[in-house]
Amino acid sequence: MAEPEDSPETQMARLILALRSQGVTEPKVLTAIETTPRPLFTQDLFKDRAFEDSALPIACGQTISQPFVVGLMTQALKIDRRDRVLEIGTGSGYQTTILSKMARLVYTVERYRTLMKEAESRFKTLALTNIITRFGDGGEGWPEQAPFDRIMVTAAAPGEPKALLSQLKPTGVLVAPIGKGPVQVLRRYTGDGQGGFTVEDLIDVRFVPLLDGVAKEL
Ligand code: SAH
Repeated sequence: MAEPEDSPETQMARLILALRSQGVTEPKVLTAIETTPRPLFTQDLFKDRAFEDSALPIACGQTISQPFVVGLMTQALKIDRRDRVLEIGTGSGYQTTILSKMARLVYTVERYRTLMKEAESRFKTLALTNIITRFGDGGEGWPEQAPFDRIMVTAAAPGEPKALLSQLKPTGVLVAPIGKGPVQVLRRYTGDGQGGFTVEDLIDVRFVPLLDGVAKEL
């Protein structure tokens, strides 16, 4: 448990140790997490819990993902420095920021205008220049920019995300929570180079659902 009276550095060190002990061991992933100030991405009410290894509420009834899950998903994606990555579900922009520190370009799609704007202002604050945002329905991917080396979905897809898989390079990797219920399985699809995929189930996760269309409310 994070002790709020500890310095941010101490709390971050504790978080990194916790992630490492749970299997997030890739140094580049840990460095990206360590250099990303999570309090910037949380609501004022939850700032003192920003270094906890838990998901927290953000605007529009959505959540910022748990650091362990962010770390595991990022590690599972096996990102190369030269990769162009598509992320579906920008939310707070926390996961986007981690991806931007590991890839060449990150394309991110969000269906709430408010969340998109808030995330864009955080990217500006952090001087991240390799993130391209889009307000829209991420279920359809981003056909104009396809194919992608890597795709990460941070909202639960009810079944195989066919439209997204079709926008992946032949040997690309897609990681997504799959399932209709409150608990989903984190699934990794790895292209075999011939139009097929190897499918692996990693862990059980709890994500908000991937919804159709853009949000009518802000
Ligand atoms: N990666 C985010 C987690 C956000 S929660 C973070 O680190 O903060 C999932 C996000 O997916 C929510 O913001 C939700 O609005 C968004 N979402 C759900 N369905 C979507 C869709 N069809 N297209 C784009 N975004 C979607």
